[in-house]
Amino acid sequence: MAYDTQNIFAKILRGEIPCTKVLETAHTLAFRDINPARPVHVLVIPKGPYVTWSDFATQASPAEQADFVRAIGEVTRLEGIAESGYRLIQNNGDHGHQEVPHMHVHVVGGASAGPMLRRMEG
Ligand code: AMP
Repeated sequence: MAYDTQNIFAKILRGEIPCTKVLETAHTLAFRDINPARPVHVLVIPKGPYVTWSDFATQASPAEQADFVRAIGEVTRLEGIAESGYRLIQNNGDHGHQEVPHMHVHVVGGASAGPMLRRMEG
C-alpha cells in the first residue's frame, strides 16, 4: 500500500496537529494515544513513511530500526511500567484492524491488559 502523506500521524510529525509528546529521538516519536485503553497508552512511531511492520522491516535503515526498538524500551521506563508489565500491540492492514496507516506500536500498561485474543471457535 502506498504511504498516504495526509494520514493523521504524518500530520502530527509535521506539527500540523498537536500531540502530547513522551519521547522524541532521531528517528522515532512517542506520544499519548488520544483515546487511552489503559492508564498508560503511548503510541510509538517511526518518523519515516512506513505503513506496516513489513514495510518498516524491509525499507527502514538499521539505524531507524534500532532507534525504534530502543525507544519503546525507554518509553516503558519513562512511564514507570517496565517492572509492573505492559503489552505491545501492533496492528497491520485490514485483518489487523489498523486505523491509522502509519506504522505504530501501542505501549499499554498501568493496569492489567487482560487475556490474549480469544481462540477461534471450532
Ligand atoms: P490502530 O487501530 O492500531 O491504527 O490505532 C490507531 C490509534 O491512534 C487509536 O488507538 C487512536 O485512539 C489513536 N489516535 C488517532 N488519532 C490520534 C491523535 N490525533 N492523537 C493521538 N492518538 C490518536
